[in-house]
Order: sequence, then structure tokens, then C-alpha cells
Amino acid sequence: LLEVRDVTKTFHVAKSPSGNNRLRALDGISLTLGRGETLGLVGESGCGKSTLARTLMMLERPDAGTVLFDGTDPFAMHGKELLAWRRRVQMVFQDPFASLNARMTAGEIISEPWRAHRDMYRSSKDREARVHELLHLVGMRPSDARKSPQEFSGGQRQRIGIARALALDPDVIILDEPVSALDLSVQAQVLNLLNELQERLGVSYIFISHDLSVVRFVADRVAVMYLGRIIETGTAEEVFDSPRHPYAAALTSASP
Ligand code: ATP
Ligand code: MG
Repeated sequence: LLEVRDVTKTFHVAKSPSGNNRLRALDGISLTLGRGETLGLVGESGCGKSTLARTLMMLERPDAGTVLFDGTDPFAMHGKELLAWRRRVQMVFQDPFASLNARMTAGEIISEPWRAHRDMYRSSKDREARVHELLHLVGMRPSDARKSPQEFSGGQRQRIGIARALALDPDVIILDEPVSALDLSVQAQVLNLLNELQERLGVSYIFISHDLSVVRFVADRVAVMYLGRIIETGTAEEVFDSPRHPYAAALTSASP
């Protein structure tokens, strides 16, 4: 479904650890993601996880290397083809409301991705019905559509973020620290919801987290990043129980 080959990304910064003004955030990243699969992406702060996520969302253009969805490079797409691709990959952030207008209602937030895809639901009635369906899918009520962000708990906010990501019926959802801001019991509820949605919808996840126990719970395969590189990949069992790379071993032994 998704293949990343040898992607590099360099930022120009005032001063980098290496002393020059170029910071290599991604340094030859290659990975694959199959349909219905969850790839966990772990690594310390600043190793390039979010930059990789942004590159897959086409929010950053790689300096070199290719990103292929079903064999096609989205950076080479235009017009309708590009618009169609945009529906296929969605993202969930740590706080779904942080990047959005705080005055929007949950219903507006969920339906916002349809703006660029006017063909999807022609009547406001259809749109409303679909918002209710999406709310139901994430375990919330139709009446929640009219509420504003501050009326929801952290877990509910994240459910709304997931509903929004599902609005365009994507193939891939990239989740960047989706449960980090939640307390443990709410984390478990959201993770169970994600697993359940995956079984029902066959969607693939790239799940970014610094919390290894969370990744272990959701991921089929795990990639460990270090300084812009993927230094180890394998099944969750392989990576957590018998890591080969010294950094991966240190990372996995340091956590409970
Ligand atoms: P965290 O776990 O803290 O979220 P991360 O693994 O997601 O970290 P990134 O946000 O991808 O890390 O950042 C990787 C490196 O690239 C960091 O050194 C960061 O400072 C740098 N970086 C990211 N975005 C930019 C940018 N737009 N301009 C300059 N440097 C950037
Ligand atoms: Mg990040």
C-alpha cells in the first residue's frame, strides 16, 4: 500500500548539533506499510518521527528518495488525481483541536475535510447524517455534533479527532502521539477503539509514540528511529523481546 524508499530531508537551521546550519531530520528512511497493518514508529524526541509523518502527508517535500502509494508518487500528481490521493491519507494529532478554530463545533470539525471535496455529500442533510454516523462509529452521540471543544474530555476530543480522520474514508491514518495527553484508562479506551475500527474498516495505521507499552499493544510491526534513520524493524515481539541494535536494546530495556 505504502512504500518509502531512501527518503532524506534536511532543514536549514540557525545552528545544528553538528555545528553547521544543516540539520538532517530524515537520513535515508525506507519502510513499507501493508493494507490493514499497524506500523509503530518509536524513537527519542527529535529523531524525526513527526517530520516523516509530515512527509507522508505531503506537508514536507523530501530532498531525495520516493514515497509511493500503490506504486504512484503523490508528489508527481496534479489536479483530480492529487485530490483523490488527499482522501487516502489522514492524520490524527495529539490534540485534534489545537490546530483548529476553537470556536468550531465537533460537527464542523468532523466535516471540515469535506470542504476540499465538495462532491462527497451534496445536501446538508446527507452531511449531517454522515457526521452522526461517524460520531456513532467512535462511540459518541449525535447531539455531540453541536458541542464545542471545551465541552469534551480529552478522550472525547481524541474520538472526535479520529472521526474527523475517518471522514474521507482513508486507507492510511497517521497517528502522531494520539494518546500521550490522556490518562491511562482513557488511553486504553482510545487504543481499543482504534483496534476495533481497524478490524471493521481495514484501515492501516502508522502509530507514532514514545510510549513503548502503547506501541506494543497496537503495532503489528515496529520501526525504531534514531537520528533520522530507522535502525531496526521487525514484529513487535522481535523488536521488544530481542532487539539487535544497541540503541533499540537500550530503548526497550529502559521502559517498563
Ligand atoms: P518528538 O518526539 O519530540 O515529537 P520527533 O521525532 O517528532 O520528536 P521531529 O519533529 O520530526 O522529531 O524533528 C526532527 C528534527 O528536525 C528536530 O531536530 C527538529 O528540531 C528538526 N525540525 C523539524 N521541523 C523543522 C523545521 N520546520 N525547520 C527546522 N528544523 C526542523
Ligand atoms: Mg513529533
